[in-house]
Amino acid sequence: MKVRFGKYGIAFYTNRFVHVDAGATTYYCFAFIRPKYLANNDEGIYRHEMLHTRQWWRCILSFGSKCLSHLVMEVDAYKLQLEYYPATENRLKYELLYSSFLAHRYEFSDQLTQEEALKLLRS
Ligand SMILES: [Zn+2]
Repeated sequence: MKVRFGKYGIAFYTNRFVHVDAGATTYYCFAFIRPKYLANNDEGIYRHEMLHTRQWWRCILSFGSKCLSHLVMEVDAYKLQLEYYPATENRLKYELLYSSFLAHRYEFSDQLTQEEALKLLRS
């Protein structure tokens, strides 16, 4: 299992602990990313998960006063992910993919259309 150390967390390339419908899942400062993303040199998903570890530290170290909503955390993470491969190869394709994730995969998704999610990613 490949392990990658980030500034705020550690990424483990494994299928263990990853939500069944997700490519990666982060708990606290530990990110679990499916190995297929390592094989594909997907830097974007790594950056997405590492931002979540940073968001977690920010929340903890502020004793909760700087915690972000899950929606804001995900929008910020997908915006960052868009700046890295593979999204850099076809930005529109990945904007549509990530806005679809935001509109369908999260507990806040029933309050968000894909069009609204796309606007957030482009804001
Ligand atoms: Zn995320």
